[in-house]
Amino acid sequence: MINFKKLAAAYKTPLYIYDLDYMTKQYEELKEAFKGRKSIMAFAIKSNSNLSIISHFANLGSGADCVSIGEVRRAFLAGIPSYKIIFSGVGKSDDEIREAIEKDILYINVESEAELGRVELIAKELKAKCRISVRVNPNIDPLTHPYISTGLHDNKFGVEIEAAKRMYIRANNSEHLDPVGIHFHIGSQLTELKPIYESAEIVADLVRSLASIKIELKFFDIGGGLGVRYKDEVTIKPYDYAQAILGTLKGLDLTVICEPGRFLTANGGYFLTKVLYEKQNGAKRFVVVDGAMNDLLRPSLYKAYHKIEAITESKTEESEADVVGPVCESGDFFAKNYPLPILEHNDLLVIHSAGAYGFGMGSNYNTRGRSAEVAIKGDEVKLIRRREEFEDLIALEKEFLEN
Ligand SMILES: *Cc1c(COP(=O)(O)O)cnc(C)c1O
Repeated sequence: MINFKKLAAAYKTPLYIYDLDYMTKQYEELKEAFKGRKSIMAFAIKSNSNLSIISHFANLGSGADCVSIGEVRRAFLAGIPSYKIIFSGVGKSDDEIREAIEKDILYINVESEAELGRVELIAKELKAKCRISVRVNPNIDPLTHPYISTGLHDNKFGVEIEAAKRMYIRANNSEHLDPVGIHFHIGSQLTELKPIYESAEIVADLVRSLASIKIELKFFDIGGGLGVRYKDEVTIKPYDYAQAILGTLKGLDLTVICEPGRFLTANGGYFLTKVLYEKQNGAKRFVVVDGAMNDLLRPSLYKAYHKIEAITESKTEESEADVVGPVCESGDFFAKNYPLPILEHNDLLVIHSAGAYGFGMGSNYNTRGRSAEVAIKGDEVKLIRRREEFEDLIALEKEFLEN
């Protein structure tokens, strides 16, 4: 049991708290599900990019899936070996591509024919041969929230099968490209196995058809997207997930790469915030807290549900309230119509499932410093990022202030 009161006293609020033992358990369960095949779990750094979190996964043997060169640099700093680092994303700049090639990472996930051209040109300039994988868009509806769906043709990710085939042929004929992998990632917070299975089949068929023209790939990269329970979702079991994927790979000698983000981190994280005031506007009850959308954006951005636990002496009956922060936006809320007892100044609210896409989506909007982050492992609590102070926020502007 995490002692939230003690943590609030020691580190103040708002505060992010990560349970590393939970994250280990998730990692081991997923890795274990793929046993019997060569596999790499490449932690999707964007879900929680704190260096200590990445380093924790590095120690478990994890690789990293990165979507900017900044994330690639984080992966290196945290001790992920170059041969387990993947660079994905629809819009890589020339500088990013150059650095990724120089750093000799496992491969660059290419998302368009135009990008393939840039990668080839830059590899040529560097007199290098760049390992690539093509992100295929299998045009399968992932049955998730439209904002986090990525595997349909009307969104920006990946390329169609026919384009992918052309790209492999071109890469295979190039002195500067080495096509080693194939990639798909159809969306996030997936709770249905069928779209994953169907995508894997489509992509595995492409692997076979490439093999028939002597283009032999080594890596089958299934992306991330495994859903977690925020409220009452029925989630996919890692074992079933692995079985479904592996079933499509019969007769193929491929290393499976999995890019889990949310699955590893979401429910290992808590956002701790303090009650400032209760307030009533007509019939509407508000609980105003010291955390805000700049700390945890998911409720505002996706109307995402997060379980809220009140730590209070209050014995009053629960009634519905909106839990809102101090930021000057009507969209600044953590929950709407959430049943809570009447709360006192300094009572604590624990916002659950905040370990993925929490801190990383934060901002300094309203000149609010980002929260501190702490990690718990066994009985040990460690500060892994200090709270941002006012001086941190103005550091890059101050020197330009006239007079
Ligand atoms: C975001 C992303 C992931 C991780 O997604 P989760 O839903 O957090 O597992 C994996 N791969 C790619 C390419 C991504 O963009």
